[in-house]
Amino acid sequence: MSKELLARNGGPKSVERNFEWPVFDEQEIKAVEEVMRSGKWGSPNCQDKVGEFEQAFARYCGTKYAVSCVNGSVSLRIALIASGIKPGDEVIVPPYTFIATASTVIEANAVPVFVDICPDTFNMDPEKVEAAITPRTKAIVPVHFGGLACDMDRLKEIADRHGLALIEDAAHGHGAAYKGKKLGSIGKAGSFSFQSSKNMTSGEGGVVVTNDEEMYKMMASLRNVGRMEGGQWYDHFNAGCNYRITQMQAVILTEQLKRLEEQTIIRHENGRYLAQLLSGIEGIQPLKSDVGETLNCYHLFILRFDAAAFGIDRKEFVELLAAEGVPCLMGYPHPLYKQPLFREKRFMCYAIPESVDYTNVSCPEAEKACNTSVWILQNALLGSRKDMEDIAAAVRKIQAAVKA
Ligand SMILES: *Cc1c(COP(=O)(O)O)cnc(C)c1O
Repeated sequence: MSKELLARNGGPKSVERNFEWPVFDEQEIKAVEEVMRSGKWGSPNCQDKVGEFEQAFARYCGTKYAVSCVNGSVSLRIALIASGIKPGDEVIVPPYTFIATASTVIEANAVPVFVDICPDTFNMDPEKVEAAITPRTKAIVPVHFGGLACDMDRLKEIADRHGLALIEDAAHGHGAAYKGKKLGSIGKAGSFSFQSSKNMTSGEGGVVVTNDEEMYKMMASLRNVGRMEGGQWYDHFNAGCNYRITQMQAVILTEQLKRLEEQTIIRHENGRYLAQLLSGIEGIQPLKSDVGETLNCYHLFILRFDAAAFGIDRKEFVELLAAEGVPCLMGYPHPLYKQPLFREKRFMCYAIPESVDYTNVSCPEAEKACNTSVWILQNALLGSRKDMEDIAAAVRKIQAAVKA
């Protein structure tokens, strides 16, 4: 195939479809308009539209409680604090994830301990978790990376045996399920983000779900300036802050939630189909499936890219693929422990022991993931079967052109 046919060189795009995100219609607009006209834009007690959304989200996840808040970082932090973590405690996290998974541990005055990922799922490796547990370990925060469920049976067994809180970072996991249970509902608490790129969004926002009443009460208090039920407006019992969402965000989320199950099934089916279409292309290997997930919400469809076998370097592949009309990225450049925050221990006033040193941490699988990944973004997975065929055709076209 001639290189002139590549979209980057002026040829026709393989994927014509524009994968819009967020998806919304008059329902969202009407709901926001109603809130605007009502004049009740905020919900100081987190009742009304905010409470309605929380109940609906908890019901959807199959948990008793949900506490919404400003974003999926604050949700993680209040979950960590409410789980009983104390200054200097250790929290096990993966290194191949968004910074918030580990930086919120710092913000909770605790010490992130990085445990490497499995090379075929990019999720925390349960085999390596146990070796990282010390007398100071208090929690494990697995990330359902890209929407693929972690090995929750193994992680739960380890957490229970050592008396650790299992807090799911489900920021990629809205609607996805493990052995029939919604992600976020399996551990002691599950945290979600509604930031604009996530599978469910209100521009910004977050929520924690739990079945634990004590945790729920503490998170609700931390989210609302330390207030507690029964107290007066100016009574503050805990070191919380104003992390409330607006009523506009709440109604957008209520409407978006109505779309979530159907969107998740579409992403799941398209993801499986795309993996099948890409299998057999030299240098391209999608992540594993059938690891206990009963729904993968494919926040990211991840390819492991072998530059030598494919014939071009990864940066060029991503540029060519994007030009063909596929929303894609190379993902994180480094595992988190290589970030200046950790390497240089820029921990501000937080209570991290002097002995903690991240310069000698090494997680080879996470490093390999950073050097070989190509992420196709979730909105592309909301397309048709034909769109998946077009995405696969784009990959084949690029390979044929570079091998010509
Ligand atoms: C997005 C994200 C978060 C944090 O969400 P924000 O709403 O952006 O604060 C946490 N963990 C992971 C894995 C994420 O991708």
